Amino acid sequence: MAQLFGDAVVEKDSFNAGLLEFIAGSPTPFHAVQRMAAILAANGFTALEEGEAWELRRGGRYYVTRNSSSIIAFNLPDSTVDVIARGVRLAGAHTDSPCLRIKPQPDMRKNNYVQLGVEVYGGALLNPWFDRDLSIAGRVDYIDDQRSLGSCLIDIGKAVAVIPSLAIHLDREANQSKSVNAQKELPPLLSISGVRDGAFDDFLLSWIREHAGVTNAARVLSHELSLYDTQAPALIGLHDEFISSARLDNLLSCYLSLQALLAGDDTSFNMVVCSDHEEVGSSSASGAQGPFLRSVLERIVGCVSTRVEKRAEDFERLIRSATLVSIDNAHGVHPNYMEKHDSNHGPILNQGPVVKINANQRYASNSTSVARFKALCAKVEVPVQAFVVRSDMACGSTIGPITAAGIGIETVDVGVPTFAMHSIRELAGSDDAHSLYRVMTAFFSAE
Ligand SMILES: [Zn+2]
Repeated sequence: MAQLFGDAVVEKDSFNAGLLEFIAGSPTPFHAVQRMAAILAANGFTALEEGEAWELRRGGRYYVTRNSSSIIAFNLPDSTVDVIARGVRLAGAHTDSPCLRIKPQPDMRKNNYVQLGVEVYGGALLNPWFDRDLSIAGRVDYIDDQRSLGSCLIDIGKAVAVIPSLAIHLDREANQSKSVNAQKELPPLLSISGVRDGAFDDFLLSWIREHAGVTNAARVLSHELSLYDTQAPALIGLHDEFISSARLDNLLSCYLSLQALLAGDDTSFNMVVCSDHEEVGSSSASGAQGPFLRSVLERIVGCVSTRVEKRAEDFERLIRSATLVSIDNAHGVHPNYMEKHDSNHGPILNQGPVVKINANQRYASNSTSVARFKALCAKVEVPVQAFVVRSDMACGSTIGPITAAGIGIETVDVGVPTFAMHSIRELAGSDDAHSLYRVMTAFFSAE
């Protein structure tokens, strides 16, 4: 009988409650990683530091973060298991979501209105950002009164900003054609109390002194802060059929991967990698196109391989027997826009996870990895759907092809069907995340 890490598979209602709470508490990738690390630590996983020497214990459970915005968690089976020959079972997702990022020197004033300069992070759908009660969260770097550098996470929590729409009386064409000039139209309104240069940094300084426990902070030096919608995630629909929330793409997948890792067993070598910067191309030190995953896998091989001269070969053997399930949301077929999907490949909400396939390798799925995933779904009696973009439309992509190309791992791209992807509030089915969690729990179980 395989030993479970945590409790048995979580039922749907408590799974969804945990998912909603996770997303609500994770307004930025930094917060998502902080929460995932806390969940892992509470379940017996040990934090590793990339800058230190690793001595991994067989039977141990570990996690490591990079830039505080990407995280890799894994378990090592005990020494009766030939880890290299068995390969690693990987689930991959991303921690970032399109949003508005506050500029380094954001102070703006027009008339007496205090506004913030913002830039668009990723492919955000901009119209839904108007008329929302927005707050601010992210990372602040400061120098303290002893001239030491420090950094802390902040989440203001309360709504402090808004981007008011222009009234329709002043733009009669708004319902016919509304485009958004990001430089001109997106700076949110913060106050009507006047502003001077540096006022936002002063606000941050007093906030972190008062709320982040850094009472000796002397000056804010830089920050990575985003605006986010304060409306809490919710189950909606006549019978709670839907999950309505910001950042479903892709915190939903981060959460279900992590929960599946906890519910999986420790006789297979399982790993979850959640990377930042997917929405801007993944090309960064902590993104999926960077060396983080390869570095962690190489260090693990360095610890478990007994063939000192052949570690490079053992690394390749590990990858050859490995599988990556790359999890990212899929476009559900929208009843008001049926023509946007191929009629044979329109995933429907609450009808199961979606396998994403693209002949041009925008998704990394191949027939073998798809077959394996479908067999897993059948094993736990979860229906499965397929998505192929219309032949006359461009296809999106995921961390799947990037990771597959980077380290040569066999990959299947999957996800739950979603509406309004990259909006400030997205919509998924309330059955699907739990269904995919059950599939991934089977993936992380030994047989
Ligand atoms: Zn995504």
